Amino acid sequence: MIMLKTDRELSLMRAANRIVALVLGELGEMIKPGVTTLELDTWAEQRILGLKGKPGFKGYAGRSGANPFPATLCTSINQEVVHGIPSLQRILQEGDIIGVDVGVIYEGYYGDGAYTYPVGSISPQARDLLDTCQNALQLGIAQARSGNHLGDIAKAIDGCVRARGFQVVRDLSGHGIGRSLHEDPQILNYYDGRSGSKLKSRMTLAIEPMINAGSYEVRTLDDEWTVVTCDGSLSAHYEHTVALTDNGAEILTRC
Ligand code: MG
Repeated sequence: MIMLKTDRELSLMRAANRIVALVLGELGEMIKPGVTTLELDTWAEQRILGLKGKPGFKGYAGRSGANPFPATLCTSINQEVVHGIPSLQRILQEGDIIGVDVGVIYEGYYGDGAYTYPVGSISPQARDLLDTCQNALQLGIAQARSGNHLGDIAKAIDGCVRARGFQVVRDLSGHGIGRSLHEDPQILNYYDGRSGSKLKSRMTLAIEPMINAGSYEVRTLDDEWTVVTCDGSLSAHYEHTVALTDNGAEILTRC
């Protein structure tokens, strides 16, 4: 069932997602060669707590429930797609790309957003991948309005990514969000020809294309979290949480 939010819920979700946006914006200033992903994580946890939020991913149980996510941020470098675990051993290098996913709980409501940053100067292909993923997200959000269907979002994202010669990851998707991090509906980023559920005002959706420079195929590492491309190609991920209104989508995670 897709939950429609009350005015009060929407204002709490604005607050949760404002924290996400602030943290993502400030992380952009910190990302440079030589920084470890653990440093980013430690800073982000303190910043979120300072803004009266709680880390939304830390302790989040996976499918089995046996291996909760251990950190505040997901940090995914180069061929890592999503859910990379911050570590003292992971030192950013010139030319890397790093996807950072931030989840926040504020007064019982979730915020969720992600951004892929270049580390120093990056290859033209990496730049194109990042630009395409951001563009795909914007086109997807433009379709997120009452009266449209979920399939319109997928079609816009998939079409944009294909046109640039990249591929949309199929095993992962966006999601409804609210009192839970993952609510209905599932929001596919690739178009399977189905129109899907009709969109309504007061739905809150986390739209998050993940795209690969090579094949769409991905696998999960032995840490049970880190998702990587099967062919080792680069991957990018951008995410906004949006609230649907009668006049289109309000982006709650705008930096
Ligand atoms: Mg998400």
